[in-house]
Amino acid sequence: MELIDIGANLTHESFAHDFDAVLERARTHDVAQIMVTGASREGSEQALALAKTHPGRLFATAGVHPHHAVEYDADTDALLRRLADEAEVKAVGETGLDYHRNYSPRGVQLEAFEKQLTIAAERGMPVFLHQRDAHADFLALLKSFRDALPAAVVHCFTDTREALFDYLDLDCHIGITGWLCDERRGTHLREFVREIPEGRLMIETDAPYLLPRTVRPKPDHRRNEPMFLKHICEELARDRGETLEQTAAHTTDTARAFFGLEAPAS
Ligand SMILES: [Zn+2]
Repeated sequence: MELIDIGANLTHESFAHDFDAVLERARTHDVAQIMVTGASREGSEQALALAKTHPGRLFATAGVHPHHAVEYDADTDALLRRLADEAEVKAVGETGLDYHRNYSPRGVQLEAFEKQLTIAAERGMPVFLHQRDAHADFLALLKSFRDALPAAVVHCFTDTREALFDYLDLDCHIGITGWLCDERRGTHLREFVREIPEGRLMIETDAPYLLPRTVRPKPDHRRNEPMFLKHICEELARDRGETLEQTAAHTTDTARAFFGLEAPAS
């Protein structure tokens, strides 16, 4: 079985002390390849550096998360354009809108989002997108760019069934994380994840965040890591009425097509 974690924040400081062990555990839990999320200027450069040191296993995205939208200036735009030219960078993002926390003002978020969609459209690259409590504005801006983008994934989907179908109608991909396993706020997802068609569904940990609450035995820490992708895939498979092997196979095929990855030479 081969799994692909399409979103892991492996540049996070909590991975610095045991990075190789984290990768080794991922491998022994069938995680064949990992997209390292770039979510800030520095983070995107670090994500690329990690991908370069693990060719064929780790890849990177380059983007600025809406939380960091205030740092999006002309230099940042130029940096992302340089990073987007690197072979290991497979998508523009993480970008999008987050009105839940509003760490950056909404107008600033919208501007940074539009700039990054422009880079992706010009390069013909897929986008890795974040949306929280901002569905209407997010959908409107994405719609205006959609024809110019080869592919778009709404990562860590947590929204309603209506929002899901708005994205599927725009021919977006959907990323499912361990949010699904959260009995306090994720149970609504279990009712409709089976409606995401094969070929549009991918899986991710969003490590170190969102440790799946259904992992047993309960880890004695709260750090999530790519090895738990298999657990997420199991839970998702059950909700979809598929076997673990089926869900693993089609989400991996979808991720390879989405990001343009070749299977690793084992
Ligand atoms: Zn996100």
